[in-house]
Amino acid sequence: MALADSYDAFLCDLDGVVWLGHDFLPGVVETISDLTAAGKGFCFVTNNPRLAPADQAKLLQEGGIDIDDRQVVTAASTLIRLATERHGQGAPVLAIGTSSFKNQLANGGFEVLPHDDPGSAKAVLLSGHLGFDYQELKLASMLVRGGADLIATSADPTMPMPDGLWPGSGAILAAIEVASGKKATTTGKPAPALYEAGLDVLGRPERVAMIGDRPDTDIAGAQAIGLDGILVTSAGGASRDPSTNNTVPDHRIDSLGDLLT
Ligand SMILES: [Mg+2]
Repeated sequence: MALADSYDAFLCDLDGVVWLGHDFLPGVVETISDLTAAGKGFCFVTNNPRLAPADQAKLLQEGGIDIDDRQVVTAASTLIRLATERHGQGAPVLAIGTSSFKNQLANGGFEVLPHDDPGSAKAVLLSGHLGFDYQELKLASMLVRGGADLIATSADPTMPMPDGLWPGSGAILAAIEVASGKKATTTGKPAPALYEAGLDVLGRPERVAMIGDRPDTDIAGAQAIGLDGILVTSAGGASRDPSTNNTVPDHRIDSLGDLLT
């Protein structure tokens, strides 16, 4: 019996499981095609908000994975929902992140303030980006010290890339938390919101496993809400980061293809 036979559907991480950077990992497209052909449900849940869910779905579709846009849920869509609940539609915010992240916030209804006049911000909404600098650290921490809410897409310390582990949103968030003296709310894994959104997409079948490469986020968050966690240890994935190894997964596989063996 193959491991996949034990489950009706899968929540599946993207970075380090399906792709690294822009490169699909070997065998992934074929495995997902075989599993969906066998009737297994798939929803991709990612802490990576650099692209909107529909844009990440497009990359998967172009790679040969037959899904619709609803089957990708990101930490940014969860963040938009939470920040809207707390501060209302149209709230002025300081956004720190990629231009895509800022566009998603603007499309989500927020007034994204210019960095040279952020004084009225009710919240600092953060997602890691490669251009983070001292000026952003200063702006964010001073606003949070003055009472602005601090919400981040994730506390991931690293992100897996083809040449190794790059600093993740959590590394940037830590700098702001230290400088402001306040702790953020995070919306990505291991917080339950992203899993719950994925389970809604899957139609809440009985036997669901989360497939991921980070024990401390993917696996720990899944187990906390009663799902099995399958750890993928593929080369370059975050499972190789020793800081992530405090959680014991229900299953451990080298690559997604091992689900079929
Ligand atoms: Mg990952």
